[in-house]
Amino acid sequence: MLKLLRQIAVTGIASEPPPRPDPSLRVVEQRLKSEVLALFSGSLSIRHVDAGSCNGCELEIHMLTTPHYNLEGLGIRFVASPRHADLLLVTGPVSRNMETALRRTYDAVPDPKLVVAVGDCGCTGGVFGESYASCGRVSNVIPGGVERNIGRHGCDEVAAQCASIALEVGRLRDVYDDHAGLQDRFLTCGHLAPELARQLGVVGLAARASGLALDARVAPGFEPYDRLDVAMKTHGAGDVAARVTVRFEEIFESLRLLRAIVEGIPLGEVATPFNTVGGRGRGLGRVEGWRGEVVIALEAEGGLIRRCHAHDPSWQNWPVLEHAVIGNIVPDFPLINKSFNLSYSGHDL
Ligand code: SF4
Repeated sequence: MLKLLRQIAVTGIASEPPPRPDPSLRVVEQRLKSEVLALFSGSLSIRHVDAGSCNGCELEIHMLTTPHYNLEGLGIRFVASPRHADLLLVTGPVSRNMETALRRTYDAVPDPKLVVAVGDCGCTGGVFGESYASCGRVSNVIPGGVERNIGRHGCDEVAAQCASIALEVGRLRDVYDDHAGLQDRFLTCGHLAPELARQLGVVGLAARASGLALDARVAPGFEPYDRLDVAMKTHGAGDVAARVTVRFEEIFESLRLLRAIVEGIPLGEVATPFNTVGGRGRGLGRVEGWRGEVVIALEAEGGLIRRCHAHDPSWQNWPVLEHAVIGNIVPDFPLINKSFNLSYSGHDL
């Protein structure tokens, strides 16, 4: 006993001092309170399911229930029965042993309901991925729709971030415009003539910087691009300077599109039922990625994939590099290479 008392006297108070009051948290608190009031008639009941986590996420969730965060004061509480819940909070990758239990819990939550996957494991499968023991991310077990609702506040945040990125990129472009020496090095370097680009079937930014009007957002122009009036950026010079110019212009156009998309997000259900299609069928998906168009062709039968062919813009554009470097000095190779900025693994897929 004496030994223990001595130890206490020598050690003193070892815990950290409590955090200072942060006035900005008051704003977050008020916003949460008004959102819970508006969306859930004043109270949000959460049923938590640990589908196979390492318990790290649970530690964080447990901290949320301490007086410091005053969740109950905001109308948010954890409930024992899924029948009393508005929202299912799922942690961890879904282990095979928990797959049925998670489905049953989901079915027991009354409609309309929300599902929130927590952490890297819940959202992507994390380091556990998919295996004989793990179904991976939560949406593999409760599929359909998007993983979470961005909400009005999330849309405003995206729009604000777009505005601040546009400012930063604008400053970067001013630096580029003020350096005549830099532009001089880029001009005529790594030239790709429009005719050669056409023959090699070049896509994306590299094609547009060589004067080819190719952009899957414009033609065929699937939703939502068909109503966003996408301004295709092209340049006829086909050199490094042209690719830099097109990239700058495309960044500003992409930020404009992003803002228009978040401003026009429709209200409605976040999740939709996932229906498997019987019989045999084929489909073709085509999107304009930041390096060019990504194409996936798929053949399915009885709800299973029979054949699949994925085509990446980098695979399409790599052969062009050996033509673009001809006649240039060796130190310009990295510059030309990076102006196409292709992926070695074709990871745009
Ligand atoms: S995300 Fe996965 S690894 Fe990280 S704390 Fe949660 S369960 Fe553990």
